[in-house]
Amino acid sequence: MARQKFVAGNWKMFTSAASGRALARAVAAGVTDDRVRVAVAPPYPYLALIAECLAGSRVGVAAQNLYPAHEGAFTGEVSPEMLKDVGCKYVILGHSERRHGLGERNEFINLKVRAAIDAGLDVILCVGETLEEREKDHTQQIIWRQLYDALAGFDRALVHRLTIAYEPVWAIGTGRTATPDQAQEVHAYIRGLARKAWDEQSAAALTIQYGGSVKAENARELMSQPDIDGALVGGASLKPESFLAIVAGAA
Ligand code: PEP
Repeated sequence: MARQKFVAGNWKMFTSAASGRALARAVAAGVTDDRVRVAVAPPYPYLALIAECLAGSRVGVAAQNLYPAHEGAFTGEVSPEMLKDVGCKYVILGHSERRHGLGERNEFINLKVRAAIDAGLDVILCVGETLEEREKDHTQQIIWRQLYDALAGFDRALVHRLTIAYEPVWAIGTGRTATPDQAQEVHAYIRGLARKAWDEQSAAALTIQYGGSVKAENARELMSQPDIDGALVGGASLKPESFLAIVAGAA
């Protein structure tokens, strides 16, 4: 069975209550069929508001992070249960801005993946190499390590609740996109790892998004590659026209 394309918009630390509401409404109005699975990831303070705006629409809500504990004395943190409670279906974990800007390590990301899955949140797990790692030809070993560590203990029977987002760090927010061939090569490598670690059926069911300066102009070609099952979109998800054009490119 063909995998359904999945396009998610990561709003990062942008929008306000008013602009987020307007953006969510415009996106919901533009997603009129189920050919493509769509989600948006607003900042924490607006999750409940945006979930309310999107209730009954075809657009799901994702959080951009979580803390791997049910509750407790963790000042400033947010639990997976709280995210479920306010209407999140997904959570983005391991984003490079957290790995490289905030020092998040694979082992900690693994705790988050486990906590998310246990709480009933579906995971979008980001992996990707830096420019230096690519130039040293270390891309595959970096991706292998990130996946191996972050997915330790993951039950292959839950593969339908996991999305891998391949996001080369050098392409995020830089305007520089991996070529469709470069991206496809890494996506095929990731699917091959899933085949080896799990089995053919689980690997075939795994959704692998590409992320890194995806825009209306390059989305269709990227997502027409055999192992590219959608996109994780940053900058271009902040305008309904560009985000909806990317969704259309996935159909
Ligand atoms: C991202 O942050 O996940 C991302 C892909 O950003 P952009 O599309 O802006 O490169």
